[in-house]
Amino acid sequence: MSNDSPLVIALSKGRIFKETLPLLAQAGIEPIDDPETSRKLILDTNQENVKVVIIRATDVPTYVQHGAADVGVAGKDVLMEHGGDGLYEPLDLKIACCRLMVAGPVDAQPVQGRLRIATKFINTTRDYYARKGEQVELIKLYGSMELAPLAGLSDRIVDVVDTGNTLKANGLEPQEHIADISSRLVVNKASLKIKHAAIKRLIADLTAAVNG
Ligand code: AMP
Repeated sequence: MSNDSPLVIALSKGRIFKETLPLLAQAGIEPIDDPETSRKLILDTNQENVKVVIIRATDVPTYVQHGAADVGVAGKDVLMEHGGDGLYEPLDLKIACCRLMVAGPVDAQPVQGRLRIATKFINTTRDYYARKGEQVELIKLYGSMELAPLAGLSDRIVDVVDTGNTLKANGLEPQEHIADISSRLVVNKASLKIKHAAIKRLIADLTAAVNG
């Protein structure tokens, strides 16, 4: 089956965009605009048949799931939280590496009753504590999780940690490791059939770039 509509790649601004760019370049794809300076949300590339859409990191699985983008790059943290429905995850790009951790105040005292945990990763955190057989209270936040224990909102947080400097600067320390995180290529399952040749080539080129 052939299809002339362009291949749409979903990326988020910042670290994922910057670290995906060299991999895409090795696959022969170079965006014309820079999302850090342009206000455009749809970027043309050097290839007429390839576009890049710039969206929030947490929206990447949603765009790809619904086929509004054919492929995307998303952190494993975001994919775990989304659930990965309708997505094929063929490649670990080994970029934007970090760990999903439980963190709390340095020398935290044991908590009486249910632990209150602030996080934006509600589903992942619920699953993690369910597997441990622990009942916890989940508090949904959208950012600055590190503030929650300081402000008395929660006893612990679940967040991604890289150097640990942000935790340390706020009197927190990593306590439990939930998962190793890196960015993954995700593909819409229908797109994989309809745009098979283009997507297969992209996966092969990106695989070579990651391993090179
Ligand atoms: P850190 O190096 O641990 O101080 O991380 C700095 C901040 O960036 C923290 O708030 C983390 O939540 C966030 N962060 C670190 N690594 C990543 C990543 N790979 N993806 C998304 N957020 C990250």
